[in-house]
Amino acid sequence: MATIVFVHAHPDDEAIATGGTMAKMADGGHRVVLVTATRGELGELPAGGLDPGETLTERRVAELDEACRILGVARQVFLGYLDSGMAGEADNQRPGSFASADVAEAGGVLAGILEEEDADVLVTYDEHGGYGHPDHVQVHRVSMAAADMAGTPVVYLATMNRDFMASLAERAEESGWTPPDRDPEDLKTMGEPAARLTTDVDVTAWIDRKRASMRAHASQISDDSFFLAMPRTSSPWSGAMSGTSGSGRPWARGPPASTRAR
Ligand SMILES: [Zn+2]
Repeated sequence: MATIVFVHAHPDDEAIATGGTMAKMADGGHRVVLVTATRGELGELPAGGLDPGETLTERRVAELDEACRILGVARQVFLGYLDSGMAGEADNQRPGSFASADVAEAGGVLAGILEEEDADVLVTYDEHGGYGHPDHVQVHRVSMAAADMAGTPVVYLATMNRDFMASLAERAEESGWTPPDRDPEDLKTMGEPAARLTTDVDVTAWIDRKRASMRAHASQISDDSFFLAMPRTSSPWSGAMSGTSGSGRPWARGPPASTRAR
């Protein structure tokens, strides 16, 4: 039984990026701890509006609580920084924003949690935060600093298999699932190439839990979002797309996993 600390930028990232892995690890008897850098203050306003007197932060914290319950998270902690908004926005540098935080200082706070938990494994993002969001990039920097400070023995970088994503887009027609309406060039910088991946977590059996945790974040993930519109089990690839492909540190340490389209 291990203690695994997952670090994420905003409420909902844990569900989207590593929800299947978290549920799988919790079911396996491991202690799953979630550290969330911000409360996602700059997220979308819920389609149905907020309740009278309710703030977006309160809504998102409540949604996160529910997602944690669904995923079997034993403890959730906020680092207490502010959401920095999307890349290039002025909020990136506002006082208290996570993206502008001092890496050693934030790393020190996270290291304290890693030590308190006697963490065996830390799961964070790859060097570009999967897709370049400044808070996600900062999660990587801060996590790596913290792991060094705390001497956490194993670090995985949760990412997406870029080659697999490209093959998904090519097969969109036969699968009936339409990929997000993004510039196809984006796919070339999403995640990491298959050759860099060392680990592929099969979360096929945890897809329903992952989806339920995403639904808990209803203010941010609508029912018709492309995440929830993905075929559930009829497709051979839902597990890989929803799983965590990570890498030990440094990247080259383990043998590259073969690209498995499941
Ligand atoms: Zn995020």
